[in-house]
Amino acid sequence: MTPPARLPVAGARAVRRAAVELVRADARAFVRMLVLNTAAAGAGLAAPWLLGRVVDTVVAGGGAAAVDHLALALAGCALAQFLLTRYGRLLGHRFGERTSARIREQFVSRALALPAATVERAGTGDLAARGTGDVPVVGATLRDAAPEVLIAVLQTVFLLAAVLVLAPLAGAVGLLFLLGIPVAARWYLRRAPAAYLAQGETHSRLTGTLAATAAGARTVEALGLQERRTEVTEAVAAEWLRSREATLALRSVLFPAVDVSYVLPVVAVLLTGGLLVGHGAGDLGAVVSCALYLRQLSAPLDAILQRMENLQSSRASFARVEGLAAPPAPPEAGGRVPDGDRIEVSGVRFAYDAGGSDVLHGVDLSVRPGERLALVGPSGAGKSTLGRLLVGVERPREGSVTVGGVPVAELGPELLRRHVVLVTQEHHVFRASVRDNLLLAAADADDDRLLAALDAVGATWAAELPAGLDTPLGAGRYELDGSRAQQLALARVVLADPHTVILDEATALLDPAAARLTERALAAVLSGRTVIAIAHRLGTAHDADRVAVLDGGRVTEIGPHDDLVAAGGPYAALWRTWHGTPPEGAAPPPARSPGPEGAVPGASGPGAPGPDADPGVTREPAG
Ligand code: ADP
Repeated sequence: MTPPARLPVAGARAVRRAAVELVRADARAFVRMLVLNTAAAGAGLAAPWLLGRVVDTVVAGGGAAAVDHLALALAGCALAQFLLTRYGRLLGHRFGERTSARIREQFVSRALALPAATVERAGTGDLAARGTGDVPVVGATLRDAAPEVLIAVLQTVFLLAAVLVLAPLAGAVGLLFLLGIPVAARWYLRRAPAAYLAQGETHSRLTGTLAATAAGARTVEALGLQERRTEVTEAVAAEWLRSREATLALRSVLFPAVDVSYVLPVVAVLLTGGLLVGHGAGDLGAVVSCALYLRQLSAPLDAILQRMENLQSSRASFARVEGLAAPPAPPEAGGRVPDGDRIEVSGVRFAYDAGGSDVLHGVDLSVRPGERLALVGPSGAGKSTLGRLLVGVERPREGSVTVGGVPVAELGPELLRRHVVLVTQEHHVFRASVRDNLLLAAADADDDRLLAALDAVGATWAAELPAGLDTPLGAGRYELDGSRAQQLALARVVLADPHTVILDEATALLDPAAARLTERALAAVLSGRTVIAIAHRLGTAHDADRVAVLDGGRVTEIGPHDDLVAAGGPYAALWRTWHGTPPEGAAPPPARSPGPEGAVPGASGPGAPGPDADPGVTREPAG
């Protein structure tokens, strides 16, 4: 089995571009937030500077009144900083919430726009993980971490600038000692991801082991496995302990190194500044202000360091979320609208995996409007695959599948719905009102049209709905059973009003209890349309205008039922097998090797279909 093709992940450039786009989408709020936080960071510089002035005033023998004025100004600045910071934060959180809402909306619309085949191959798990895991991570970062880091960066820049402006020489010496922080951070970041991954993994293993022992407690007891389980648990616990010690060791290096790096610059500024002031080359107040600035630096730097990991994991999540923005080869009909209703399949070759072997080997088929064509053949012949190509879920590797001269896979969903619709038993009832469930097929339909569509498929129950078309459907609300759900799905087909229906019998109408009810509804839906039925019951083939026999990815026979039976080929053999009539001597069924899931027509000999018969071929339900 080939591994599922993963959904794409955005590259570094695409991530940067997307981030810029998000800022641009709410540019005014972003600028306001930036201005306020810049003002707050500026106000934050006033207090240490004023303290420096106080020192200078005292040294110069200034009076108490001058100091009082400075103290008052200091209090005013502190209040201004507090208010600006609070408001700046509020704006930051709002910006974050709005942006994360935008990402969620984008994600939903992109997920819905993904080609069905892409989601099928990647598996819905990946998509669900991105929606439920990565999108919230990005949202939380935008709301909390990003504004905090932005503010911290602004404060850091202001503080560093102030230090260098106030006391250039002493400040520069002090800042040199700050270099310990990036060195320690680099050292830590190189080791931390692997160490934390290992810790998470051993923790999962420990939890798993404990849960397995608890779940199998009786077995453990019955087989006297207590000691073995204890040993296993202890071994895993010891591993977990080691992994915890490893991460603790990393932190026990990082935090002291960072703390020392915060103190050393202050010491260096005081020493250098003191020396300079002693030699009459400096201003004591400025040195004090610088020391205070450097002391203040620890808060924003701590915030940046603590959020660094957060930002890193969010970046990875954002790349996965943005990955959906790059759909492989966007379909493009070039605005062409099908001219007529004719379906043409010509020279179609198709493989599920790029470079894999073909499943269809040059299929040609022409279906005239209004015709009923039955596709028959053994399991694995390629009938469902051809069905997927006919409704545009897959694109041919070579050749073309067109409706009215336009490739089906290039039609947008709106246009496609009006031309070709696939009917299977996978009829999903959306958790929404009856009306919304129906409007999916025809957004502009009025209530009369919706009711007429329900009526057309014999959904008499619709008249008894407690709130009419507004009745909410879904688990825990008004629940529809299988046949009603199928009627709802068929009403959608009536509303979409396609000229061609691809009917996959393999999954449709196999529930005998619901069969009669849905059969009538289906007949109503199919009447007047071109029908290509992937027939698993030969009764369908018998009633069709023409039958195409598919075998090994090729059309081996095509024609009206009677002609094919008379021709005595593979279809005739299949028909006899199904119908239970002995083969006529003149036309022995050709012997072929069985298909992947069962026997090929003609290989199972006369009589009623035995266990060897194509499991896809079933008799009609009685009655
Ligand atoms: P039928 O409908 O006639 O039973 P299918 O079209 O389902 O046949 O299958 C044709 C071939 O394509 C089979 O060999 C099957 O194993 C293969 N196939 C079908 N679906 C997939 C898929 N999603 N990925 C890879 N191979 C597939």
